Amino acid sequence: MTLENDPLVARMQGFGTTVFAEMTALAIRTGAINLGQGFPDTDGPATMLETAAAAIMGGANQYPPGPGLPELREAVAAQRADRYGLTYDPAEEILVTVGATEAIAAAILALVETGEEVVVFEPYYDSYAAIIALAGGVRRPVTLRPDGGRFTFDPEELRAAVTPRTRVLLLNSPHNPTGTVFTREELEVVADVCREHDLIAVTDEVYEYLTYDGPAAHVPLATLPGMRERTVAISSAGKTFSVTGWKIGWTTAPPRFVRAVQTVKQFVTFTASAPYQRAVAYALREEGKWAEDLRVALRAKRDRLSDGLAAAGLTTFRPQGTYFAQVDVRPLGFGDGREFVTALHERAGIVAIPTQVFYDSDAGDPYVRFAFCKRDEVIDEAVERLHRL
Ligand SMILES: *Cc1c(COP(=O)(O)O)cnc(C)c1O
Repeated sequence: MTLENDPLVARMQGFGTTVFAEMTALAIRTGAINLGQGFPDTDGPATMLETAAAAIMGGANQYPPGPGLPELREAVAAQRADRYGLTYDPAEEILVTVGATEAIAAAILALVETGEEVVVFEPYYDSYAAIIALAGGVRRPVTLRPDGGRFTFDPEELRAAVTPRTRVLLLNSPHNPTGTVFTREELEVVADVCREHDLIAVTDEVYEYLTYDGPAAHVPLATLPGMRERTVAISSAGKTFSVTGWKIGWTTAPPRFVRAVQTVKQFVTFTASAPYQRAVAYALREEGKWAEDLRVALRAKRDRLSDGLAAAGLTTFRPQGTYFAQVDVRPLGFGDGREFVTALHERAGIVAIPTQVFYDSDAGDPYVRFAFCKRDEVIDEAVERLHRL
């Protein structure tokens, strides 16, 4: 090795700048409307923000305990119990992390041996592929395909993806970027596969509150028979309370899994930011109404953007959850998503994400993802500009 060569380790080659960073930089540089990266352009509940500020001014500025502040672990336990009837011991079954991203990373690094396989639905959240690669694991994608206006999987394809080397099934529901909220029937199939092959399920539930076909539409996989004991569930405050910059997440799982994840986590970050943990504990206890109001507001934004995308002639998949709506760009004569987003930026001054970057296969080529977690004026302006295409 010389200093002139690319110093990046081989297993991370191909994971350069994330497409979100690239698209956000493009939007900032050119003043385009950024419907690429999924972050809200309004703040979370004021009393939560005040709690964080007061925690900083009140001296909560040194290392909190490695597993997280007890008050936050207790608030997470209460939330899982009240919302889903799932009970977790705050002392042994809950770990606070630096966002869901760190929880996912630490879980995969802790649970997947070199050469073992991780089954994941594609399109997948971009950190999944990178972290599986970093763990020396192998991803086994199962493609979500349009079926009746939403994206879902073929149970036979899921079963066929599992091999004797499969260790983990990584499930994201509500699903980014398709907006699918997996139904109980779909989750039964997933649970069957996990039980039959003795897999660990890692569930990314960061959009657990953001479902638009009713507040209770999200079904945690751990609530299905025989699944709590094999599920490492992950969520975070970022999407629920519109504080994606705070990076407070958590894992709930049986003790041996929490210990494994914490073994990795302690050497990556040791612990997560103390004042924000305190504020999120407060929000989980007191701001359920705010989160419900956000859900209702986002449902209206979903419709606002989806209607606009459809009116522009794009095949639009009205999402059941999350921040995102997907479109098929072919009706407007574009060959694929990349070609579309380039034209969208040049002609309409809008940045969006070509979904093909979240696939191993070419099944995602015609799709583009738009974020609707934006102020109504921003959505309206974008919809207006879509007509320039
Ligand atoms: C935003 C997002 C995350 C990251 O959550 P953080 O708490 O910000 O780390 C993880 N998974 C999915 C699917 C997301 O959309």
